[in-house]
Amino acid sequence: MTQISAKISDRRTFAIISHPDAGKTTLTEKLLYFGGAIHLAGEVKARGQNRRARSDWMKIEQQRGISVTSSVMTFEREGITFNLLDTPGHEDFSEDTYRTLTAVDSAVMVIDAARGIEAQTRKLFEVCRLRSVPIITFVNKVDREGRDPFELLDEIADMLALDVCPMSWPVGMGGQFEGVLNLADNNVARPEGDSRTFQGKVDADPTLPGNIADEVELAQGGYAEFDAEAYRNGDLTPVYFGSALKDFGVAELIAALAAYAPPPRPQPAEPAPVAPDNPEVTGFIFKVQANMDPNHRDRIAFMRLCSGTFKRGMKLTPTGHGKPIAVHSPILFFAQNREVADEAFPGDIIGIPNHGTLRVGDTLSERADVRFTGLPNFAPEILRRVALKDPTKTKQLRKALDDMAEEGVTQVFYPEIGSNWIIGVVGQLQLEVLISRLDAEYKVAAGLEMAPFETARWISADDPADLKTFADLNRAAMAKDRDGNPVYMAKTSWDVGYVADRYPKVRFAATRER
Ligand code: GDP
Repeated sequence: MTQISAKISDRRTFAIISHPDAGKTTLTEKLLYFGGAIHLAGEVKARGQNRRARSDWMKIEQQRGISVTSSVMTFEREGITFNLLDTPGHEDFSEDTYRTLTAVDSAVMVIDAARGIEAQTRKLFEVCRLRSVPIITFVNKVDREGRDPFELLDEIADMLALDVCPMSWPVGMGGQFEGVLNLADNNVARPEGDSRTFQGKVDADPTLPGNIADEVELAQGGYAEFDAEAYRNGDLTPVYFGSALKDFGVAELIAALAAYAPPPRPQPAEPAPVAPDNPEVTGFIFKVQANMDPNHRDRIAFMRLCSGTFKRGMKLTPTGHGKPIAVHSPILFFAQNREVADEAFPGDIIGIPNHGTLRVGDTLSERADVRFTGLPNFAPEILRRVALKDPTKTKQLRKALDDMAEEGVTQVFYPEIGSNWIIGVVGQLQLEVLISRLDAEYKVAAGLEMAPFETARWISADDPADLKTFADLNRAAMAKDRDGNPVYMAKTSWDVGYVADRYPKVRFAATRER
């Protein structure tokens, strides 16, 4: 095996999808701990304090107790490099989350044993399904009173239309919790810490509940057998039971990722998909984050490396715009510590500091003749007019709105007529984040007013004359987005349908692929 193919087969780039409160944060910390990225319990605490200090400026994050920003954490275990991409869990951030999920090769779905599949889990699962992202399921909190494991498995199978394959089994739950039985080797991890293997039958141990043998037999007979191919196609999910808080099932989960989760796959691109072992360095930007450090007006573009061996100082060209940029101080993310990277391989995420030249959706490559596809912008569902309280701050406001549009947090539209800029979001919470960040990061006091529009569509036509005719007749509803693309703003989505019928030569797109 060549060096690069070994590096590729040793990489697992994944995300955790879950409903808020299912235990994603706890599991993430435990994965990092088991992966050796955090050595002492004290360091977990220190990391928490750091994190609080760093995001102090983002007060909303604390008030709501949600994670607004997403990050990348890398850890290694037994020769495998894991890149864990954190996805914001709140439903208002589905767009950001969607983009993050375009950058992973597999996902871990965390479910609360007492609650089963919840709304947000389901939504995120659908996004994974769109891209056939394979899923390992982790049923968390089995140390507490939860629902019957059979019922949970059936719910996953029915609601998500997936084959399920239990890989472990909880021995009792809540007060009766005795541990987690690994169905592959009949080994029970016990709450006291020691674990033991049963010789032969699981009911050989008198301290275990009497019905456990029957349960295990039913569990093994009643569901699909594990099939690595079906898992990788996204048709089957192996299910692990555990407790992130009490450290059950976490090591098994890491082992499962190492054994079964796919290494980097070919990525959809034009003119042709790019295989990871293609020697040319290519990647795409799935996230841009401004002001990660409040003392520096830096901006980090997160690039997923899709092929080639990246080396520090390498020149990469953004497809479609701009000159080659030399990447002198790329950042790799080792469990929250930013480290300067000398080398990176397909599946790795590189942070590229820049001053606004890189955008979400950009392809970067050594020779600018490839473009990754499939990172959409979504039509906003809420439009608001931005009202500036101090008119001398126009320039700062424009910069702030452009920055945040670039990050993909909000979209900004500059109407053809009038000077009231309009921002668009997919969820209410983003509005609060916007106002709070305008104030904290840009010292701009602004309010939001109702806009005369409710939705927006990107418009295009084969013949530019058709587009111009339409734009001239609908001047009052026309705007440009951050990149200068023409946008039609409508009072209601019903209006969009009505206008689209009248102008059949104009296309009205609810997403814009970048
Ligand atoms: P997130 O919102 O998905 O990131 O969830 P958190 O990791 O913050 O967990 C939500 C709550 O559930 C916290 O109070 C955790 O301590 C608790 N929790 C997480 N995992 C477990 C578990 O395995 N068992 C129990 N009993 N509680 C857990």
